[in-house]
Order: sequence, then structure tokens, then C-alpha cells
Amino acid sequence: MTFQLLQPTSLAEACDLLAAAPDDAVPIAGGTDLLSEIRDGTASPATLVALDAIADAGLYGISDTADGGIRIGALTAIAGIAADAGIRRRYAALAEAAAGLATPQVRNLGTLGGNLNQRPRCWYYRHPLTVCLKRGGDRCYAVPGVGKYLCITGGDRCFIVHPSDTAVALATLGASVSIASAAGARTVAINDYFTGPDVDLMRENILQPGELLTGVTLPPPPDGQRSAYLKARERESGDFALVSVAAAITVVDGAITQASVTLGGVAPTPYRAADTETYLQGRPVSAVTPAEAGAVAIANPRPLPDNAYKIPMAANLVTRSVTNLLTTA
Ligand SMILES: Cc1cc2nc3c(=O)[nH]c(=O)nc-3n(C[C@H](O)[C@H](O)[C@H](O)COP(=O)(O)OP(=O)(O)OC[C@H]3O[C@@H](n4cnc5c(N)ncnc54)[C@H](O)[C@@H]3O)c2cc1C
Repeated sequence: MTFQLLQPTSLAEACDLLAAAPDDAVPIAGGTDLLSEIRDGTASPATLVALDAIADAGLYGISDTADGGIRIGALTAIAGIAADAGIRRRYAALAEAAAGLATPQVRNLGTLGGNLNQRPRCWYYRHPLTVCLKRGGDRCYAVPGVGKYLCITGGDRCFIVHPSDTAVALATLGASVSIASAAGARTVAINDYFTGPDVDLMRENILQPGELLTGVTLPPPPDGQRSAYLKARERESGDFALVSVAAAITVVDGAITQASVTLGGVAPTPYRAADTETYLQGRPVSAVTPAEAGAVAIANPRPLPDNAYKIPMAANLVTRSVTNLLTTA
């Protein structure tokens, strides 16, 4: 297929180019996801707006914020996030999620913005010959087909799981995302950024045509907080999560003062394990039974015929995660 490639050198120019053709132009960062979509015929944009020649410093790198948190530019490579000493020390769940995703090549080329905005991996959506609901077709092929990698909660006609590991960690760590367009800038909590098929079958987030994600901001972690990311997958390298969990727990004077737990691989968006959080919140560490925290990880799961294995997998990952965090706290 043919497309034109535009290479703006400023964020403002990129926003103007996207605004000029909101239905035809899409941004491209590292290209590790979008180019495979184009190659496979899943996406066919008329115009690519390349972000890699943009000089605006705010799109790159990791910097401290005035309140003691950090900001990560959208064009920061995943490998840079995994290797950053400050992130590894203060936001371990994010560093671990970044270090364990994809392959070294993809982590070097892929960006945070691209990771958060990558399209789903459902193999029916990705197959050139199965034009599913998400591609404007009239049916979901997964329900009568093979659904072992798909969601066990939150499905609505479409049963994708959210593919990004960093999204799950960022949700647990209370991140917000910055968005820019020719019309201006806005900031939203990451928990309000991702949307499921019940909101819009064709999209996975609130980004509108013409908008760009410019960065992610993390608040300072509370004193005493520890966080971690665990991921179950079929292969050790280059594989998406069957189920993952990002957990952050703050212990003060022997009691849990804050608990945040998010699951990946189980729902079309990062899934907040609200009942686990409620179980942990305020509880003395000595009164925590990790398996009880894990048992309530997913409220009312509705698995497909071949993916109920994800229910005990989620419970076990949460159990391990809570055990690890409390024994190192
Ligand atoms: C073999 C393989 C294994 C993988 N395994 C994992 C895994 O285990 N876990 C995981 O999380 N990911 C995994 N991935 C996905 C990979 O992490 C993404 O392909 C990568 O992060 C995308 O970044 P990119 O910069 O290359 O994005 P691109 O391919 O350039 O863009 C991806 C999408 O995001 C949009 N986009 C890019 N930047 C922006 C922006 N700033 N604002 C708005 N929209 C934007 C593009 O329009 C496009 O739709 C894997 C990929 C491969 C090829």
C-alpha cells in the first residue's frame, strides 16, 4: 500500500498536520506496531506523521517535576525507562513492566507513547482476512473461535485484552497523561484514558483524531511505598501477558496505609482490582493472608469457553505479588 510520510520538526507543526487531515493522518513513533499493522493490512492510513524529527525537548526523556514526581516524554524509548535508576528505585513496577516487555530490539525502538497507544493483539483483529467488529465487520470471530488469550471481564461484543504492560504499571502508580492538539493541551488521569468496547468498538482510548499523547506524569510515591510488576506469559521473551499484575503497597508502622493493584491481560482496559485494594487497605501486615487478597482480584469474571484458566492465574499472581511486597517491606 502507498502512503505519504510527513516529518514535522516541532510539536505545533505535527499537531497542525494531524488537524489538517484528522481522518487520514496518524502519528508514527518507533513504528514497531503501526508498520506491522500496515504490512498486514489491518491499518491503511493515507498519511503518516512521523514524530521522530520533532525537536521539542518535552517529548523526550525523564525529568523531575516540581512536586517531587517525574515526567516521561512520549518519545522516550521503553529501554530508557527500564534502565533509569530513579524509576527502578522509586517506581519499580514501571521499570519491571518496561524491562519485561517485547524484545531488546522493540524496547530500543518502541516509545512510551507508542506502547500506550498500540492496537490490540487479538489474532482475529490482526488477521487480514477476518474483518471483525473492530475493523468495521459484522461479527466477532473470537467467540465461536479461539479465545484463550482474550478477556475474562469487561468484554462487550469485542473481547480484546489491553496489550500494554506499561499502562498497567502506570495505572497502579497513579499516572496522568498529557495530550496535545492544534486546539490546545489537556491532562487526564490514566485511569480515564483507556476505554473498552462498551464505549467505542473502534477505539481503545479517549484520544481523538488530531490529538497526540505528549507525556506521562507520575506523582511522588508515598514514603514507604513499594511496587512490583509480575507477568505470566507463554514464552520468556517477546511475549504479551496472559495475565499481569502491578501492585503498590505502602506500609507505615506495621499497617497498610495505601494499596493499589491493577491487572493486565484480563480486560479490554487495565483492570483495577478494587476488592483486593479494599481487603488490603488499612489492614495490619500481620493480619494479611495474601491468598485472600488474590481470591478477590476479579469481581464476577465472565470467561470465554477456553480462558477460565486466567481466573486462578490472576489470583495466584496477586497472591505472589502481595507476599513479595510484604516480605520486603
Ligand atoms: C515481537 C513483539 C513483542 C511485543 N511484546 C510486547 C509486550 O510483551 N508488552 C507490551 O506492552 N508490548 C509489546 N509489544 C508492543 C510494543 O511494545 C509496541 O509495538 C511498541 O511499544 C510501540 O511503540 P512505537 O513507538 O514503535 O509505536 P508505533 O508503532 O509508532 O505506534 C503505535 C500506535 O501508537 C500510535 N502512537 C504512537 N505514538 C503516539 C503518540 N505520541 N500519541 C498518540 N498516538 C501515538 C500510532 O499511531 C500507532 O497507532 C510487542 C511488539 C512486538 C513486535
